[in-house]
Amino acid sequence: MRIFDAHCDTIYELDCRGLELCKNPLQLDLERMSEYDGYIQVFAAFVDKTDIKTSPMKHVLKLIDTYKSETEKNVGKISIIETAEDLKNAHLSAGVHSILSIEGGEALEGSISSLRMFHRLGVRLITLTWNHANELADGITEGRGAGLTDFGRAAVSEMERLGILIDVSHLSEAGFWDVERCTKYPFVASHSCAKALCSHPRNLTDEQIRAVSEKGGCIGVNFYPEFLSNDGICDIERLAEHIEYMINIGGEDAVGLGSDFDGVDRLPEGIYGVESMNRLADVLSGRGMTDSCIEKVFYGNFYRVFSDTLGRNG
Ligand SMILES: [Zn+2]
Repeated sequence: MRIFDAHCDTIYELDCRGLELCKNPLQLDLERMSEYDGYIQVFAAFVDKTDIKTSPMKHVLKLIDTYKSETEKNVGKISIIETAEDLKNAHLSAGVHSILSIEGGEALEGSISSLRMFHRLGVRLITLTWNHANELADGITEGRGAGLTDFGRAAVSEMERLGILIDVSHLSEAGFWDVERCTKYPFVASHSCAKALCSHPRNLTDEQIRAVSEKGGCIGVNFYPEFLSNDGICDIERLAEHIEYMINIGGEDAVGLGSDFDGVDRLPEGIYGVESMNRLADVLSGRGMTDSCIEKVFYGNFYRVFSDTLGRNG
């Protein structure tokens, strides 16, 4: 089977712990990904501005350097997708492929030219905020709960022009609706769950799920137990319930996977890392999901959204 996972934090962990992408004790490595018929992974350069000692931009550039170095070390085992043609070739050649993203728009340091430079470095998705406020908007834990700033609107508009996918995971609710109003093209929530099943502030309301769907976007269901059940205790069946619920609200074209591997300290019982994706498909199948729907959730939906986005500006 093929996998398209819209979010992992593996680069950050590799950088902090001096580990290698090829084989490691983390939740994701190339050796385990290559067991599948095809694997496209969005790798985030994650910035928590309260936790870094350098500027957000310097921090993200260091993570991008780690990403580039690791992919260069593994030529032939992983390729980088930057254009619609790269994506199509990845689809035709199977194997393991990657897309670079930034999680936390503070990396731009308030500059549109920096946004364009990140695009030139290969960034093809930006999660507008992490949990805190930045120059673009407020994150979900910022008490003020404000939406997009003027700079945030300018950045969103330039991202649409360049062909960088806009990601609303972690964004304040006001920010979400501002994005919904001011975007022309599909946007995504790369790693978010359903608030109706778990009341965590990071999760999406039914109205938000419908809005992403109506725009033609996609939501990557997050594997983090804290977002899946109110008491934080959950197994693989609970993860399947979120996927089914999202499909009931948003339709089968609007749901994908956003594992958050290596960004979470725990996983649902029965999931250990990339090696468990097959088990999740088996559980969904056992619960009655059709093969064609499983294919959309595991691969086809994010493939479609990225194909549209990258196709806008090769
Ligand atoms: Zn995140």
